Amino acid sequence: MSAAPAASAPAPAASAAEPSAPEASAARIRWLAAPSSSGWLEQALARPDLLLIDHAHCERKAAGVALQLMFRYPGDAALAEALSPLAREELEHFELLLPLLRRRGIALRPLAAPAYGARLSAAVRRGEPHRMLDAFLVAGLIEARSHERMALLAHNAPDGELADLYAGLLASEARHFGLYWVLCEERFGREVTNARLQELAALEADCLAGALPPADQLRMHSPGLHAG
Ligand code: FE
Repeated sequence: MSAAPAASAPAPAASAAEPSAPEASAARIRWLAAPSSSGWLEQALARPDLLLIDHAHCERKAAGVALQLMFRYPGDAALAEALSPLAREELEHFELLLPLLRRRGIALRPLAAPAYGARLSAAVRRGEPHRMLDAFLVAGLIEARSHERMALLAHNAPDGELADLYAGLLASEARHFGLYWVLCEERFGREVTNARLQELAALEADCLAGALPPADQLRMHSPGLHAG
């Protein structure tokens, strides 16, 4: 994929590119309350190595979240049918990144997580069935933000290998948040799901609002939103 100037306009917030059925209609749902800024993109383009390490951690964490949900609801076969392949796919992406890191001489070092994930998790209500709805929506929001930022990288990274990597992941990331939408809609209905999504999407945007962090704290989910 060809490179464009770093400061080009961010992709529109929210929905997805070309997901497959049955998530196709789900992907037209607006997930993100605000788009990422060109400031975040510039930071990301300046520190591709750091972003690759964080991306690898994100894929592994996403697999962990899917597994955790399967363990939390062990009697829900339909959930397992959706989440087991999702967990596998997230691990496949993790495995895609490992040789790339190795070839580039980048160590998979631990990174301090941004406040983002913890703040979103804290918003998950404790009692069921709210806990399930919130956990699915938070997982979907994280996927939606990853998708949005990977699309920015796919269109703007001057490094062709990285641009291709991100472009190649877009369809599956879109499928992932589509899947979480479908799981919610099947269990809670469209109206309830959408009302709670609006609340959590506002929180998600709030988590990424404010000043850009120092360059070494750049992450896939570090602050950097387009103001207004
Ligand atoms: Fe994903």
